[in-house]
Amino acid sequence: MITVHNLGFPRIGVGRELKKSLEAYWKGERNREQLEQVGRELRHRHWQLQAEAGLDYVPVGDFSWYDHVLDLSVLVGCIPERFGRVVDKVDLDTYFRMARGRAPQGEPVAACEMTKWFDTNYHYIVPEFQAGQSFRLAHTKIFDEVTEAQEQGFRVKPVLLGPLSYLWLGKAKGDTLDKLSLLPDLLTVYREILARLQTQGVTWVQIDEPILVLDLPTAWQEAFHRAYTALWTPGLNLLLATYFGPLSDHTALACNLPVAGVHLDLVRHPEQLDQVLAHLRPETVLSLGLVDGRNIWRTDLQRALTLLRPVYEQLGSRCWVAPSCSLLHSPVDLRLETQLDPELKSWLAFAQQKVEEVTLLKRALSGPYVSAALDSWQQAAQSRRNSGRIHQKAVQERLHQPIPTMRPPYPERARLQHEQFNLPLYPTTTIGSFPQTSQIRNIRYQYKKGLLCQAQYLEQMQLQIKEAVRVQETLGLDVLVHGEAERNDMVEYFAQYLTGYAFTVNGWVQSYGSRCVKPPIIYGDVSRPVPMTVPWITYAQSLTAKPMKGMLTGPVTMLQWSFVRDDQPRATTCLQIALALRDEVQDLEKAGIRMIQIDEPALREGLPLRTGEWQHYLDWAVYCFRVCSSGVMDTTQVHTHMCYSEFNDIIASIAALDADVITIETSRSDMELLEAFTDFAYPNEIGPGVYDIHTPNIPTVAQMVALIQKAKAHIPAERLWVNPDCGLKTRNWPEVQQALHNMVAAAHLLRAQDDP
Ligand code: GLN
Ligand code: ZN
Repeated sequence: MITVHNLGFPRIGVGRELKKSLEAYWKGERNREQLEQVGRELRHRHWQLQAEAGLDYVPVGDFSWYDHVLDLSVLVGCIPERFGRVVDKVDLDTYFRMARGRAPQGEPVAACEMTKWFDTNYHYIVPEFQAGQSFRLAHTKIFDEVTEAQEQGFRVKPVLLGPLSYLWLGKAKGDTLDKLSLLPDLLTVYREILARLQTQGVTWVQIDEPILVLDLPTAWQEAFHRAYTALWTPGLNLLLATYFGPLSDHTALACNLPVAGVHLDLVRHPEQLDQVLAHLRPETVLSLGLVDGRNIWRTDLQRALTLLRPVYEQLGSRCWVAPSCSLLHSPVDLRLETQLDPELKSWLAFAQQKVEEVTLLKRALSGPYVSAALDSWQQAAQSRRNSGRIHQKAVQERLHQPIPTMRPPYPERARLQHEQFNLPLYPTTTIGSFPQTSQIRNIRYQYKKGLLCQAQYLEQMQLQIKEAVRVQETLGLDVLVHGEAERNDMVEYFAQYLTGYAFTVNGWVQSYGSRCVKPPIIYGDVSRPVPMTVPWITYAQSLTAKPMKGMLTGPVTMLQWSFVRDDQPRATTCLQIALALRDEVQDLEKAGIRMIQIDEPALREGLPLRTGEWQHYLDWAVYCFRVCSSGVMDTTQVHTHMCYSEFNDIIASIAALDADVITIETSRSDMELLEAFTDFAYPNEIGPGVYDIHTPNIPTVAQMVALIQKAKAHIPAERLWVNPDCGLKTRNWPEVQQALHNMVAAAHLLRAQDDP
């Protein structure tokens, strides 16, 4: 008989109970005991439903108040000094201060950094290691939860992030600290943790080492042997879990570690199975990740069984089955989606359904009596393959037609554009959004609920645009924006106008802490039946003689922040979106808009985990951007915006986008990133963000002048723009007005200096 298990269940709760109670606790509206009660209920409910579905082991330790990497930092006593000395056990409020810089109890302090968990949209709290860092057992959460689950009668498999992935994901403060030098001390604590779990009667521990799917320096590869030899404990079985990619060149390494089992992500990379089987030691358990843990499609069980059957024949009870990775990355329960079209809904599976799929695979192996359940599953898979709602002939045909993506060389375009716009040196602009006030949210809400008719909504929104334009004119900005009042976010707004997209009402996925996102679903061919932004932008342009920027979300970001269909390459879906956006760009131009900004904040996060695959991705991503941006006259100025500061390794691709102007985040890195732009001799115009919009602090004129002067050392003044480093939607109007007032003053001062 095979063993079925799960690597982790979403913590947020089907009604986002965790989010709600955390936020209430932080506001002081709930006490600690009430919060703890919600945690207990969620854990119990999730164990219960997994056990009832038929899992042989339920994961324990996957629940977290904020983040599982932070949980581990607290467990091993890795608490930066600024959070105070920890006597005995780390307090929950100290934990929240590490995550957020504040908590109901205690002084505010700088929070720990947060960054993306591999190539997902989940963000973890980065461990901080100092010189002389030592570790010690400083919490009991995992042990308490094991006891809690056992007392409720569940068969448990605790989950821990492995020591090497933990060190890899952390950040050494101070240049000289070699993170691997911390391993021996860390292992001492891990041994203690394992020993204690063993005394609790635990027989299997899942130890996640997702870094095994990355390119690893030799020293790190070698450290795996040392680490797992040290962790080997008689009578305690370790299941080494890998996910998000294939083991590839680390296959032999992983298969030869002294662990009792290895878990593979076979959804993303089924082809690694043979190689792993060839290396697997005769007593090792192989856990097959056959159900996609990070997308929302029903598993094609027939295909999964084709992979599973021969492995089961070969390994027998050493064959385990699970989702590909933790279900943290999928929404909780599909049954809540009462608004979804039934056919579409029949193609989907959320976390709860994925657990059922795993157990269905087990039952399918053991006999014919599940054939009815299996059949209905298969019918859904088949209906999806053949459904008329997925394929659009016109979209398919367009993919095969040549798409011109070349524009004349930038200097030629720049000459024409400069003649046309006649902007001053250091032109000032913003990134697109203005404060999303409660008034704006209320107007959108009322419209959605049918309390405002379309004409009323239009009128109200136009008032918002009018006000945004008036403020910008008063401030004296050179290039204006309409303010994005009509958008709740950057993706859903556009997706609502496109074919091939569907929306859930409750498909929430944790992004970080209490924050959740609800990505739209791309299920079919994408096209744009009607313009998406033209009425807003042309209205805004009609109010001013200054250039008004059209404002769009780029194809890669539209793709990256959605659940994407898995029946064709992502590049193909991206190209469909790019073509739809190309139509919008051309319509904006036809309507008289001369500057069009296409935001790609997610371009970098789409990079594959292995550097060897980067170029292929960058090639199609750049191509898609050019498809959507290139169908315009030479005089139309294309802008793009990205909000991150690591450009060095992808600068050639950024240049290949060939946007006339790029606005980027630089203020926090003190313009250091511009070095990348000089080393590479970036040819086009750049607006290096001159202040950080993420804080309410008002930047001074002098600060911004100094930053632009720094920028001038790297980019000639004729190609510099002056702008904030991202959209202003999260700020309030007084902050925005003061900051932009100073920003415009800074630009004036520089102009006067250059041209006295
Ligand atoms: N135009 C968008 C805005 O200003 C860009 C947002 C982003 O970069 N994430 O809000
Ligand atoms: Zn941004």
